[in-house]
Amino acid sequence: MAAVPQLRRTDSARGEFSPLKHFVVAKKKISDVFEQLLSYVKETSAFVEDICGNKALENIASQDQKLEIQAYADKLAVIKEVLARRHMKVAFFGRTSNGKSTVINAMLRDRVLPSGIGHTTNCFLSVEGTDDDRAYLKTEGSDEEKSIKTVNQLAHALHMDESLDSGCLVRVFWPKTKCALLRDDLVLVDSPGTDVTTQLDSWIDKFCLDADVFVLVANSESTLMNTEKHFFHKVNERLSKPNIFILNNRWDASANEPEYMEHVKKQHTDRCINFLVEELKVVDREQAPNHIFFISAKEVLNSRMQRAQGMPETGGALAEGFQERLQEFKSFERRFEECISQSAVKTKFEQHTIRAKQITEKVKSIMDDINIEAAEKRVAAQEDREYQMDRLEFVKKQLNLLIEDIKNKIKAISEDVESKVSSAMEEEICRLHIIVDEFHADFHPSPHVLKCYKSELLAHVEEGMGKNLAFHCSDAINASIQSSQRYMIDSMLPLLPSAVQNQVHMLVPSRKFDLSYDLNCATLCSDFQENIDFKFSLGWTALVHRFLGSVNAQRALTLVDLNFKASQPALPQARTPSSGPQSTTSQPNHETAVMTQEDLMVAMATNVASLTSRTSMGLIVVGGVVWKTVGWRLIALSASLYGLLYLYERLTWTTKAKERALKHQFVNYATEKLQLIVSFTSSNCSHQVQQEMATTFAQLCQQVDQTQKELEAEIRQLTINIDQLEAIQNHSKTLRHKATAMEKQLEAFTNQYLQCQQ
Ligand code: GDP
Repeated sequence: MAAVPQLRRTDSARGEFSPLKHFVVAKKKISDVFEQLLSYVKETSAFVEDICGNKALENIASQDQKLEIQAYADKLAVIKEVLARRHMKVAFFGRTSNGKSTVINAMLRDRVLPSGIGHTTNCFLSVEGTDDDRAYLKTEGSDEEKSIKTVNQLAHALHMDESLDSGCLVRVFWPKTKCALLRDDLVLVDSPGTDVTTQLDSWIDKFCLDADVFVLVANSESTLMNTEKHFFHKVNERLSKPNIFILNNRWDASANEPEYMEHVKKQHTDRCINFLVEELKVVDREQAPNHIFFISAKEVLNSRMQRAQGMPETGGALAEGFQERLQEFKSFERRFEECISQSAVKTKFEQHTIRAKQITEKVKSIMDDINIEAAEKRVAAQEDREYQMDRLEFVKKQLNLLIEDIKNKIKAISEDVESKVSSAMEEEICRLHIIVDEFHADFHPSPHVLKCYKSELLAHVEEGMGKNLAFHCSDAINASIQSSQRYMIDSMLPLLPSAVQNQVHMLVPSRKFDLSYDLNCATLCSDFQENIDFKFSLGWTALVHRFLGSVNAQRALTLVDLNFKASQPALPQARTPSSGPQSTTSQPNHETAVMTQEDLMVAMATNVASLTSRTSMGLIVVGGVVWKTVGWRLIALSASLYGLLYLYERLTWTTKAKERALKHQFVNYATEKLQLIVSFTSSNCSHQVQQEMATTFAQLCQQVDQTQKELEAEIRQLTINIDQLEAIQNHSKTLRHKATAMEKQLEAFTNQYLQCQQ
């Protein structure tokens, strides 16, 4: 604004500091305050918008608060614009030719408005400053700037413009550089004579409601007319205590009759005071004289223009009483300026200041609400985080404890399974003959049938033992597994994610655990070789077996066989065929013979020692005695009995008997083999159970891990929230402080400009 750098300047044209500056400075100040307030409210608006836009910060600020602050920002922007356009406005009224235009020109120190030709139109003429260095005018309803160079041109333009309606406004823009008064945001409005219109009401509505000062230009050569009074009565009805000045113009004429001057002046003064105090009641009696002046506008204008042009003062300037009237005019100007600036500051800025205070108050209270809300939410979030951290700690500790506990449990149950399976297998091995006896299939000693028979037998044993083991162990083991799984779930349930807690059964396999015993009999007994050749129970081999036990009998029989071969040296074919390999093979045989002879002796001695307890030995002894006593008859009887027995055994050595023998041999063989795998199978089963349990436990651990991850994520989110809430708290606090600072500024403005009114 052009006025800014001139704020503290002494108004050289008027020779002193203008009271109008009061308004200019106040306007600058309040504009600054509004500028700051607007940017402050915009900042709060952006802040609240940010909060509302953040999903994680729900309910810290409401949509209503956001809209409310946005509305305040809009409102402030409008007020700011309005403030920038604010100016002081003085409206001049009075009958035509009373000298309104002359008064305005005298104040502006230039012939800006045409005068002396009667009012040119029925239009209102406003004069305001422009930063342009040329004068121009604008008529109502048009933005066209019509250039004017001289007053006559203006008068002519107004006169010629037929488009101008009665009561319309013509704005005259006069360069501020030419007129100091216009630099101070003052707009002067000249009206058509109050005597020429019947449209007072519309005039008032259009031109008077925002006027800060009304100047009634009266003619001191006559009395106040009713038309003039009537107009001000109307104005007074619409405005509360309007500022009214009465200028008794043409007072220079009174100089012609100096003897009546005082009397006339008193008469005018009394009537004017009466009008202002009694009729209009706009001012009290003491103040009233300060609103009534006796002037000669024409003289002042002439004098000022001559002075401005550097010409010597002539004519009116030398008239009787001129200096007095000039002083009176100046004192009017000063009073008027004081009055208008103070009044305008109040009327133009007071409401806006109050509004600004209300807005600041509201925004401050919203910041307070946000601060409180953020603080509460932060405390809640901190408590929540504390709780979640405790829970995480608890889950970790508890998990460690449970891992130990459950490992032991799994170990115990595995060991239990191992011992169960082991003892069940032992039992089953003992009862293997039952399973084998239960086996029925076509049997024939031919190798092919035998092979099929054996493989079917193996399958039968595998299946039978498997079934029996399952029958004896599986239920107990399953029950044990299930109870352990239940224990695991129960103890880990509090550590699982809440969503999983209700569906925990999904984690545990609903199928029954199937223990696989996997005896693999086919491989185990693959090298089983049956011996189903006929053997007489009292034959040589059988007897040796009987007396020496199966191992020693084998040795003894081999030895006999060798001796038998050694006692036949005459047999050349036994020696000659190939001496090399023969000698190498006979050597170890010989050694074996020597060794086995010694062993045999030891075995014989041992066995003979035990022979006394054996009945067969007794029989031999008895046989010898009987030989002596009974002789050959008995021997013959014995021989025939022996022969009969042989015959009997030979005849009963049927296929059935061979099958039985095979089964018997198989039972013995398989028993031995199965014994070997008891520990392997039971530990295999135990391993299976361990696997099963470990799988369940791993699944549960995975879920606990999930719980931990969820808790950690939640803690992280809470930390972010807490930080954000803290930032919001701090920001809202800062904004609250700013609001307080704004309030102080507004208060200072109020104290300085709005309270110390006259
Ligand atoms: P308006 O119609 O109220 O605007 O009156 P003008 O300003 O046009 O003045 C009408 C006439 O009165 C002009 O010829 C002025 O020169 C004259 N006039 C104005 N003021 C004075 C004054 O103080 N003394 C004298 N003698 N004449 C004045």
